[in-house]
Amino acid sequence: MKILWTDFLHLFFPDCCYGCQGILLSGEKKICTTCRANLPFTNFHKINPQENPICQKFYGKMPIRYGLAFLKFTKSGKVQRMLHQIKYQNKPELAEMLGEWYSSELNNSELKNQFDVVVPVPLHPKKLKIRGYNQSEYFGKGLASYLQSHFEPSALIRNTATETQTKKSRWERWENVSRVFEVQKPETIKNKHILLVDDVITTGSTLEACGKALLEAEALSVSVAAIAMA
Ligand SMILES: [Zn+2]
Repeated sequence: MKILWTDFLHLFFPDCCYGCQGILLSGEKKICTTCRANLPFTNFHKINPQENPICQKFYGKMPIRYGLAFLKFTKSGKVQRMLHQIKYQNKPELAEMLGEWYSSELNNSELKNQFDVVVPVPLHPKKLKIRGYNQSEYFGKGLASYLQSHFEPSALIRNTATETQTKKSRWERWENVSRVFEVQKPETIKNKHILLVDDVITTGSTLEACGKALLEAEALSVSVAAIAMA
């Protein structure tokens, strides 16, 4: 396992800022005041859908109501550092804290009361076994807090039996991926506005597969939210 200088620092100074590694002052929690003011926020919730890069990404693939990402992902930046800690350094509480923070921002915007249920993208069982937690679930739990939405961490499940990809055509593989996710609790999402949550939005194909499963199970609408967009 890669040991980073930051991990070493955290041994001696457990209360370092997750963004810049500076030592936190009393009253500061997890992220220092300077980072809180200067992180690369997307503010996608304040722009109209036609100009929203997430809505553009899903255009023609899957209808989404709102496209949200808290932060912009930049390589070797603070956001990458935070995501690394969330995914590989056993810091799921940071994902939950970012979810709560974003949730309070959204709750002070036009998006207040727009989501009935928060559903995280399920992690592959193998990864779950190694990591011990699903970071998207922690972010989703935080997001549901101020939005006062129901949190349904097990609404979706990931099928593993259908994932053998070898010797399949492109079409079959695509069909396969789209069947990887299944709604296991249809009663919790039927006729509801869903906020589907992942850690990072890259190609969007996982969110698309999950969103389609939710819409097939008669969700009223699907919006997507992530900690960061690449
Ligand atoms: Zn900082």
